[in-house]
Amino acid sequence: MKNKHVYSFSDGDGHNKTLLGGKGANLCEMTQIGINVPPGFVITTEACLDYLKQDKLPGDLMDDVRAEIKKLEAATGKTFGKGPDPLLVSVRSGSAMSMPGMMDTILNLGLNDETLASLIKQTGDRRFAYDAYRRFIQLFGKVALGIADEPFDEHFDAVKKRVGVKADVGLGADHLKEISEKFLQVVKSESGKAFPTDVMVQLELSIEAVFGSWMGKRAVDYRREFHITPDLANGTAVNICTMVFGNKGDDCATGVGFTRNPGTGDNEMFGEYLTNAQGEDVVAGIRTPKPLQEMEQEMPEQYSQLVALRNTLETHYQEVQDYEFTIEKGTLYCLQTRNGKMNAAAMVKTSVDMFEEKLITKEQSLLRIDPELLEQLLHPSLDPDFEAEAIATGLPASPGAASGKCVFDADLAEKLGKAGEQVILVREETRPEDIHGFFAAQGILTSRGGKTSHAAVVARGMGKPCVAGAEGIVVDVDLRLAHVGDYVLHEGDVITLDGGTGMVYLGAIPTIAAHFSEDMKTLLGWADDAAGLKVMANADTPDAAKKAREYGAMGIGLCRTERMFNASDRLPIVIDMILANNETDRKAALDRLLPIQRADFIELFTVMSPNPVTVRLLDPPMHEFLPTEHDLLEQIETLRLYRNVVRGRQTALDTLATPSELPKPFNELSEELVNDALIKKERMLKKVRELQEVNPMLGHRGVRLGIAYPEIYAMQIQAILEATVDCAKRGISVRPEIMVPQVITAQELAHVRRTVDQLTADLEKGFGKELRFKFGTMIETVRACTRASQLAENVEFFSFGTNDLTQAAFSFSREDAENKFLPMYNEYEILQDNPFEVLDIQGVGQLIKMAVDRGRAERKDLKIGICGEQGGHPASIRFCHYAGLDYVSCSGPRVPIARLAAAIAKLTEKEFATAQDWNEKRKNAPR
Ligand code: PEP
Ligand code: MG
Repeated sequence: MKNKHVYSFSDGDGHNKTLLGGKGANLCEMTQIGINVPPGFVITTEACLDYLKQDKLPGDLMDDVRAEIKKLEAATGKTFGKGPDPLLVSVRSGSAMSMPGMMDTILNLGLNDETLASLIKQTGDRRFAYDAYRRFIQLFGKVALGIADEPFDEHFDAVKKRVGVKADVGLGADHLKEISEKFLQVVKSESGKAFPTDVMVQLELSIEAVFGSWMGKRAVDYRREFHITPDLANGTAVNICTMVFGNKGDDCATGVGFTRNPGTGDNEMFGEYLTNAQGEDVVAGIRTPKPLQEMEQEMPEQYSQLVALRNTLETHYQEVQDYEFTIEKGTLYCLQTRNGKMNAAAMVKTSVDMFEEKLITKEQSLLRIDPELLEQLLHPSLDPDFEAEAIATGLPASPGAASGKCVFDADLAEKLGKAGEQVILVREETRPEDIHGFFAAQGILTSRGGKTSHAAVVARGMGKPCVAGAEGIVVDVDLRLAHVGDYVLHEGDVITLDGGTGMVYLGAIPTIAAHFSEDMKTLLGWADDAAGLKVMANADTPDAAKKAREYGAMGIGLCRTERMFNASDRLPIVIDMILANNETDRKAALDRLLPIQRADFIELFTVMSPNPVTVRLLDPPMHEFLPTEHDLLEQIETLRLYRNVVRGRQTALDTLATPSELPKPFNELSEELVNDALIKKERMLKKVRELQEVNPMLGHRGVRLGIAYPEIYAMQIQAILEATVDCAKRGISVRPEIMVPQVITAQELAHVRRTVDQLTADLEKGFGKELRFKFGTMIETVRACTRASQLAENVEFFSFGTNDLTQAAFSFSREDAENKFLPMYNEYEILQDNPFEVLDIQGVGQLIKMAVDRGRAERKDLKIGICGEQGGHPASIRFCHYAGLDYVSCSGPRVPIARLAAAIAKLTEKEFATAQDWNEKRKNAPR
């Protein structure tokens, strides 16, 4: 049986977004729950995929379309392409995932000489009819025939200039007639063919164009940037809908609304409208629209209908909606609704509010937020103590603050952004084709358009600050400058945007980090209650630990002790330890390090009390603490030169026999001093050469180092245990965990364990009580995964070091992979993600699963976590939950993301219950 390709709004399944696209499904749903939607129908995404495959529309599609048009004619009493009351339709794209402005729309389709004349006759409004006609010609020309906007815009602007008006509404019927005629000529000259007058031809070409736009550059770039894979959205549907007009007079309007304020989350009417205008005027920012609240006075009856519409939408969808409406001759129509894209603060607030209003459950309040979105809440805002005068003010369209060089076009923004420059994209208004500039920019500034303009919507979606409609700025792209009052802003000048207030400043203004709102705390508290996994932080200093606690970390899952060694007061001692030629000298250096390490741990344990702190024993190869051979050779060369200077000075003094004083520092430099320094450097060079390895990351590091130089691990273990005693004596409850890196065999662990046991016994004697701590291992080698049951004999916990485990599983070095070939692998879809950011479930995940199963078979209560970077990534966290881990550990700022992701993993665990599911969910995952 052939697939049904066309569905009326009154019978399409409102839940089937894959087939009907988000917009189409919602139009069906709204129609079926009684919202006033103009009649229409949807052509499915399957038809789109067929079209893209065969390069032609499915055989009988146009027959089905004709049948649907007949139904529209019956429902509206209008006729398509003829008659006194002509049926006009809009043709819009709409895929399963919302991609604002990425694909194409055609309005007023169905106009030709005959229907235009009828429209004039029927409405008695020549201006309106010609306005509709010129819009249709341009949109059709652009979308269906691929003609650029410029030749149309040139004619349009020329007429406006001649007439002396700024806004389109200033043009009369004859001007629009003239423009329409010029537009028809543009179509002919640019496409080589006359504008099609057969309305079914118009429709067919438009459907093909919308289907084709799915593979257009804009849409492809957008999908790549936002990781919209074919399993999320495959092909676009086409929505064909009876036109209603917001530009038939002053009892008409068009607008867009959010059911709540998307900037703050406040529960209030929010949106903008324009009287006597068509929808694209609001979104394109051509006229600056009015806030919805003004409608209460201007069109009170329609305003109350709008309030009712808003309430119906929210109650039905149980989600904040972003909707479009048109009022035609006093009648309100809803043209579209979709889940509102909001910034993180607004998502969090609406989640908490809607739960408290009993609109949604606690589970829904968690599930509706993409954990990654919370990252925005860590965005900086301007330092309020810094005094600066704004040079311009616009609408606060997307919060956050950013500084950068102003750049007047998207291509240059992209170029500079790629070169590592911070840029602010400054435009009169933005269009979908500017999207690459958005990706590269730190913030967006426009001189026209409202809070629902393209710039505002896209910036909000990306979490980038945006100031829109800063009308005091006059951008001259050709001269590469902008006038701001008396001031001239040149391309490259640094400006700062505050997307929360709409202010624009000259120069770079200091920013401060965001803080957690009470709503955020509430929501994440719910997340912690719902989650199975605990969330720890990777933190090495008391400051980082404090921050991590503020983010809600439930302990430290990884303290990399080498980072403590690098502090300036410790490094010289560490170097002495490395340079030591015998155990006695090494021990002397370690004795100086011991109290420092102990103090570090006391502070860390105290900050995290009573939560666990996992301390990893020294991991990196020794040479990392020493200068490079190249630097040392240079320093030695310089010292030798100095020695010659010192010798020369002495000879000169001796010859002249003048005891006169020499300027500093020469009088302080003795040959002996320089010689001492030289000897030390030469020793260091010798050591550096001794320590040199072909593959240091696979060389003498981790536990291998701990076994070769047992006194290093002994010092660290002693510092941990003594800190534990110290805290216990002061009544501070601590839960230290000692973790051994790079382990491959049970014997290695037994070896370190002996030192631990010995030191514990010694300390317990003095302390008089049992010392409570855990001993565990990192699992970051392939062998450790395969030998997990043997390793579990000696430890109480495992922590997957997936940075190293990924390198080992792929046989990649991270640096080389990321710098050389990973981007290409991603582009060719050989790998879907960067496995160093997103856990490779199919490969590394299977090793983890094996190690978990084997480890727990040996020791049921084995505590298991992950501390590689992937531990903060939501998809990886979901896998960790599925694999039965107890915790994830990630960098402090990712803790809130991980807390929410852990809750979502638990709440959606059934969907991911089997490994098979994983493969199905990720159709294009590397096999
Ligand atoms: C790891 O390998 O995942 C890990 C956490 O250790 P590091 O990144 O310090 O090598
Ligand atoms: Mg590691």
